Amino acid sequence: MPTSTTDEQKQELEQIEIWKCKQADCKAWVRKEFVTEELPACPLCKTPMIRSYKHVPVTTKKTNKKFIMGKRRF
Ligand SMILES: [Zn+2]
Repeated sequence: MPTSTTDEQKQELEQIEIWKCKQADCKAWVRKEFVTEELPACPLCKTPMIRSYKHVPVTTKKTNKKFIMGKRRF
């Protein structure tokens, strides 16, 4: 048996509410908690966004906030 540690299996996932772009080929999404608008538009293509859910690794650090996009409207 290989003794390689599978760190990824320890990684817990949490379900978060998000807004995601309606465009199938647009990958934009943003955490719902960062959106204040009732009906946000995609920061990339301005398409209306829809409510959805996403599973993401549980973040213990708050340092990856900078990867969240769409917090501000252009
Ligand atoms: Zn988009």
